[in-house]
Formats: sequence, structure tokens, C-alpha cells
Amino acid sequence: MNKGNNHHGHDRPRPDCPRCGGVEVKPIVYGFVDVGAYLELGKRTPDFELGGLVTRDENWCCLRCGHKWAGAQLHST
Ligand SMILES: [Zn+2]
Repeated sequence: MNKGNNHHGHDRPRPDCPRCGGVEVKPIVYGFVDVGAYLELGKRTPDFELGGLVTRDENWCCLRCGHKWAGAQLHST
């Protein structure tokens, strides 16, 4: 039984926007973030939204409509 029937190239563990259905969403990172470390790792534009030092439930931000919501966490070790 083969259920891996999508050919999206690489896995994108990102939800769709619950408001507009947009797929261009960014994780929101709270607290002190070492942006330099992200840049060194990816060598590209940081793909997250800075949420500030106060942690909130919302951890996703839609680039299309600006909606922020609490969704699945990005898996971290
Ligand atoms: Zn949206």
C-alpha cells in the first residue's frame, strides 16, 4: 500500500492559512533569536517572523493576509 503519492520535492511541514488558505506562511519565533546563526546555516533570507520577546500562542504568520495563529510546532530536537 503506497500512500506517498505526492510529488512535492521536499517535505514542507507547514500548515495552510486557516483564514485565506494561503500556503506562504512563516513560523513565528519568540524570544532572543540568534539571526546570525540562521544566516550562517541557510545562507539565505531568514524564513521566519520575529514575534518579540514575549511568547504567545500564535506561531504561524500568513504572508498573504497577515493572519497569525497557533498551529503545529516545527519539530525541534
Ligand atoms: Zn492568510
